[in-house]
Amino acid sequence: MRRQPIERVTVRAPAKVNLHLSVGRRRSDGFHDLTTIFHAVGLYDEVDAVHADALTVTVSGEGADSVPTDRDNLAMRAAALLGMETGHEPVVALAIRKGIPVAGGCAGGSADAAAALVACDALWGTGLSRGELLGLAARLGSDVPFSLHGGTALGTGRGERLTPVLGQGSYSWVLALADGGLSTPDVYAELDRQRDSGPVGVVSDASAVLTALRSGDAVALGHVLANDLQAAAIALRPTLRLLLDTGKDLGALGGIVSGSGPTVAFLARNEEHAVGLAAALAGQGVCRSVRRADGPAHGARIVELA
Ligand code: ATP
Repeated sequence: MRRQPIERVTVRAPAKVNLHLSVGRRRSDGFHDLTTIFHAVGLYDEVDAVHADALTVTVSGEGADSVPTDRDNLAMRAAALLGMETGHEPVVALAIRKGIPVAGGCAGGSADAAAALVACDALWGTGLSRGELLGLAARLGSDVPFSLHGGTALGTGRGERLTPVLGQGSYSWVLALADGGLSTPDVYAELDRQRDSGPVGVVSDASAVLTALRSGDAVALGHVLANDLQAAAIALRPTLRLLLDTGKDLGALGGIVSGSGPTVAFLARNEEHAVGLAAALAGQGVCRSVRRADGPAHGARIVELA
């Protein structure tokens, strides 16, 4: 049992890729119903939380310049919401270190929100249950509950209703990071435009991905990765087509635009294959940089308490 008060908490939260993402029609509230299979991968943001007299946030790491440091920052909104719901004065200094590409389709902002919830809950001793934290997470954004949950999970509704997916083993990924981000609302708007102007292909149900995950079969999984947002992301960023083709030519088991993009996730046979694939892809000049990451990774969790 810890006797001393907590002065600093560090939480690490993972990036996600969508192994399957089918998008329903636009709802009257502007959102789309989704069926998705989230998969957390080992690329992380870290959030430090320390006591302070005001609610502040700083951001460092790649892409930090394009992350807001006011009330639009999702980590700050998470701290404010937790404070409001628990009656704790929402004052804390948050320091975010970005390892997840900003506006990359990997839920970096959601990871920071989930990390801030976990960090402030510990720092303030609010002692919320996992279920209560998940409820707050859903109010902050569609992907925030999964950032808290981690692993592999089926998401429905706007993506916030989660069911854990049982699977075997782990998977080796190569993430290809693009220059600049894509705005998620812009990608959905492009999908709506494509659907309004004629028939477009829709991805099948998620069962093939669930079957591949159950057997831990990376080759089968590589074949069935599917994302309804991919064509819209490619329409807005045509170089993604070349990137996807290059990865497959270099021997990836499969490749997919992650969420709304522009990050592309390539599946490798194993770690050794992923190292070779990452090096080969980096030499092609088709993306800004590459990262290796294994999944499934854990959800937002404390890595240091002081
Ligand atoms: P998703 O996959 O959930 O659609 P994304 O990975 O494409 O999201 P994010 O990195 O979450 O994109 O950022 C989307 C936008 O959210 C950014 O352009 C930024 O302005 C805003 N934002 C707010 N808070 C944060 C944060 N803590 N980190 C990154 N972006 C943030």
